[in-house]
Amino acid sequence: MKRFILSSLLILSALLSQAQESSCGTELTAEHYKNLVELAGNARRIAAMRSGSIKIPVKVHIVQNEDGYSGLSIDDIIVEFDKLNDLFSGADMEFYLSSEVDYVKDGAFYDFNQNEEARLAASRDEPNALNIYFVGSITNKQGNEICGYTYYPEAGRDRIFVAGGCLKNSSTLAHEIGHYFSLIHTHGISGIDPEAVNGKNCEKAGDLICDTPADPNLLGKVDGNCNYTAHDRDANGDAYDPDTRNIMSYAPSYCRSEFSYEQFEVMTASYLANKNYLVANENYSPIADFVSSVRFNDEVSNKLQIKVYANPGADQLGVEILDGLEGEFRVQVFNIMGNLVYEQSMDTYNQGNKMILDLSANVSGVYFVNVVGKGRHASEKVMLM
Ligand SMILES: [Zn+2]
Repeated sequence: MKRFILSSLLILSALLSQAQESSCGTELTAEHYKNLVELAGNARRIAAMRSGSIKIPVKVHIVQNEDGYSGLSIDDIIVEFDKLNDLFSGADMEFYLSSEVDYVKDGAFYDFNQNEEARLAASRDEPNALNIYFVGSITNKQGNEICGYTYYPEAGRDRIFVAGGCLKNSSTLAHEIGHYFSLIHTHGISGIDPEAVNGKNCEKAGDLICDTPADPNLLGKVDGNCNYTAHDRDANGDAYDPDTRNIMSYAPSYCRSEFSYEQFEVMTASYLANKNYLVANENYSPIADFVSSVRFNDEVSNKLQIKVYANPGADQLGVEILDGLEGEFRVQVFNIMGNLVYEQSMDTYNQGNKMILDLSANVSGVYFVNVVGKGRHASEKVMLM
């Protein structure tokens, strides 16, 4: 038992040190800080000029190692984007996949060094889209391992880099998107212009946003239950009561789950002022429409047993319903962007339980086959060569 506790402690301390060291590599510039003072001051007025929901086209690049391994499945990424869209519904902003996933089959970039960015991304960036590169790990220019980074709008780059291990059940992607749309850390610049707990200097200090409480930099100051554990006081002697849930804080990534109302306003204003060329293209299709098909696999109770197979070279998919259920089923095929590319009904009573779908009008790639009927559903992923 003693040995067990000891090894648990070792693992815990290793995890904590990892969580503290590997974080965000987005570099704040003086130019951005100056611009943000103005943007945040006018955010409400600018955000009011929006018309309708904001749809952001995202180009996903997945970098694989020499063995073709990326550590991330497309299902993982879709589920994370669905969560992201839930979060950003607070700003009526929505992310969708603008085109096929780009698999980067160059092992040299899997353990990615920031110095290699131009070589990886310059020729791969999709114009008029937010390009997100999922790599194995990221080492920044200072030689530290980080979870992700991006650029503030002044840099004119539409790129975010995320280490694969920091994507799942983590807030790294949302955090970097916050930076991409101008937000800075809730503690502002550590040691410079700290925001007072009473909030009186909130427009000129800290993160320049007034509805986020003063934050003394939460790195290493938040416990496993997301409670602030330090006892820092500001220049007036007031004790800090920071928001450990804020996505732009340095709380552990599993704690960070919210943006404030004014943070949403600033991101909206930043979009309108800096990124309004990111608009829905002809491939627009909401991720939510087909993420349900990915989620079906998690629901055991209503699961339908199906078999899906590709007929090599024939651009055909075979679909077989295995439960022996008789009646009407709806068969749908979605491409990786979530567009419905094929839909047909299937009557197992009159036509049998097998069906061949002709997908010759579609390019090769990953497809999701959905079958719904008799109160059950199933989804299978298939690769059309
Ligand atoms: Zn950051």
